Amino acid sequence: MDERVSRVLIVGAGPVGAVCALALQQQGIAARVLEAQPEDARADTRTLALSHGSRLILDRLGVWAQLDDVTPITRIHISQRGALGVARLAAEDADVPALGYVMPYATLTAALKRALADADIAVEYGAAVEHIESGTEAATLQLADGRSVAAPLVVVADGGRGEAAPKPRFERDYDQVAVVCEVQTELPHANQAFERFTPEGPAALLPKGDRYALVWTARREDAERIAQLADSEFLAALYRHFGGRQGRFLHASPRKTFPLKLAWTGSEAAGRVVRIGNAAQMLHPVAGQGFNIGLRDAWELASLCGDAAPEALGSAAMLAAYARGRRVDVLGGVGFTDFLVRVFSNDIAPLRHARGLGLLALEVFPPLKAFVARRMIFGARG
Ligand SMILES: Cc1cc2nc3c(=O)[nH]c(=O)nc-3n(C[C@H](O)[C@H](O)[C@H](O)COP(=O)(O)OP(=O)(O)OC[C@H]3O[C@@H](n4cnc5c(N)ncnc54)[C@H](O)[C@@H]3O)c2cc1C
Repeated sequence: MDERVSRVLIVGAGPVGAVCALALQQQGIAARVLEAQPEDARADTRTLALSHGSRLILDRLGVWAQLDDVTPITRIHISQRGALGVARLAAEDADVPALGYVMPYATLTAALKRALADADIAVEYGAAVEHIESGTEAATLQLADGRSVAAPLVVVADGGRGEAAPKPRFERDYDQVAVVCEVQTELPHANQAFERFTPEGPAALLPKGDRYALVWTARREDAERIAQLADSEFLAALYRHFGGRQGRFLHASPRKTFPLKLAWTGSEAAGRVVRIGNAAQMLHPVAGQGFNIGLRDAWELASLCGDAAPEALGSAAMLAAYARGRRVDVLGGVGFTDFLVRVFSNDIAPLRHARGLGLLALEVFPPLKAFVARRMIFGARG
């Protein structure tokens, strides 16, 4: 068995693990990344919505300029089906060039992969971590191929999918499944996103290239049926569900589904292990918060490591400081997302009216607009 010691080991070369490795290097700390997938694995087809705050992080790492295939969101139209109340947010409300950016997951991971290679950061592909053993001086990773590696700090950024994932401290099953695909509408998107709340769950249209990325949240028992509708029936059903603000729906790509839930595991782990990104919190995509919180996890952790004395790297005091520092942002994002899903996914009359009033207030009260826009862009501490 090979028992090498590096300063920081990162489990997972997804966007959060890769950003953490790059940010650590900017702080002068070399990390080694272990990724379960082989180097030539086919990239995931999911779509990411990045906030302006995430753009700033990628800018500082020199990655933003390398991204092509990015569509800015300059306006967001928010409404609820079958009730009054519409709110519109614009980039000017928050004094930013765009409220967010839409891109394929594959675009971001490919750019990050190039950045890791350019920065000479060691990434081992096809290295699946099977077990993590905490310790007082170092944590040890057991790999599927029988090797083990240890470091004073292990950062788990495995998207919560690793074998070694602990049970979440808080979980909520929304009984909702997202049906995702790309759709073309009669009217061009003009960089406007739509968020439409319905009793079955929210539906979002995000401008992506010359099309929209659709996230249609449906009840679990309906989702597969919706996803498997023939194209013409799917487009007609989508029109009935979403309304005609963008004219007719003309084309849809093949549909995929994924279950939606809230799982908060938290970062705190004794014994020189810290969890970040989806490994620490998995959120409903309604407010596009999950990924952006994950990038802030990676950035803040790297900053803290850079400030720590070398011998304090991965110490209990450092990890506790990290958990304390992230609490407001993470729990704020978890609470905000959970609130939106639960308050908007029903047809209870008093709540419907209250929601309408809330949207009206958001529409007519500029300071509230600025607050919500900044909250979505920069998180609870924005
Ligand atoms: C279908 C879908 C759509 C989404 N849409 C949005 C959206 O529009 N906006 C948004 O903000 N968020 C969205 N999300 C959430 C977003 O994808 C996640 O927040 C983001 O991918 C988290 O990044 P991550 O690096 O933490 O995890 P991941 O992207 O999951 O990356 C984890 C990495 O760890 C590797 N890994 C896993 N296990 C091991 C192991 N045992 N050993 C070594 N490596 C391992 C994986 O191969 C992977 O490369 C979506 C999620 C899904 C599933």
